[in-house]
Amino acid sequence: MTGSSDARTVELGDRLVAVRRRLDAAVEAAHRPPGSCELLVVTKFFPADDVRRLLQLGERAFGESREPEAGRKVASVLRDRVLRDRESPDPDDVPVFDMIGSVQSKKARSVARWARAVHSVDRPKVVDALDRAAAAALDEAERADPLGILLQVSLDGDPQRGGVVEADLASLAEQVVAAHALRLRGLMVIAPLHGDPEHWMAETARVHEVFRARFDDAAELSAGMSGDMEAAVAAGSTCVRVGTAIMGERPLVSQ
Ligand SMILES: *Cc1c(COP(=O)(O)O)cnc(C)c1O
Repeated sequence: MTGSSDARTVELGDRLVAVRRRLDAAVEAAHRPPGSCELLVVTKFFPADDVRRLLQLGERAFGESREPEAGRKVASVLRDRVLRDRESPDPDDVPVFDMIGSVQSKKARSVARWARAVHSVDRPKVVDALDRAAAAALDEAERADPLGILLQVSLDGDPQRGGVVEADLASLAEQVVAAHALRLRGLMVIAPLHGDPEHWMAETARVHEVFRARFDDAAELSAGMSGDMEAAVAAGSTCVRVGTAIMGERPLVSQ
């Protein structure tokens, strides 16, 4: 790639400005401090060159959802940086990648190499696999910090969407707290498509409140996507995961 002004960079830049405006307005409307909700740009199915364009545009936090595409893309983007960093090291400038899709146990080891955090943890078996994987990655100096964990909550109990139901949330959280190579950071929610969106966001806020009262170090709430970020910020989201509104419609073939 790519001059700073190729057509795709311009397009991404325009959509990014619009989304950042929406996010800032939502944070302000909720009487929250500026910058209190992170924007995770969801780059799943889009090529590494798009991540490079977004870096050029100043974005630093990205969401990916599938191995092995994600690991390959991250490695490719970070490889350019290692070359550049010899000249101008700047720790604040390092991109971070979160895993937002479900993790199969056998993919845990590769996810632990590149992910800052996993947003979609919903079963004891996956907690075990990620703890072992993160411990190995720490041993091998493939990562410097414990792997962040957000527990995906199911608001309606639909097994298709994944997520742990509220009744099982605390015991799963205790398992993460006890794991040496993991750090419990909070909850993640995908609002069900059926029913009243406001009802689901009110439920989200309620479940998060109860959770925070017990696990006060794990105050993060990953909620809100292209279509519902305003409602999610009003419900207390600290991280919106936005794909389509920035990247455009996802291509059918992943890269
Ligand atoms: C794809 C995806 C998103 C982004 O959704 P958009 O509607 O494209 O913004 C957010 N969260 C998760 C878990 C996803 O898989």
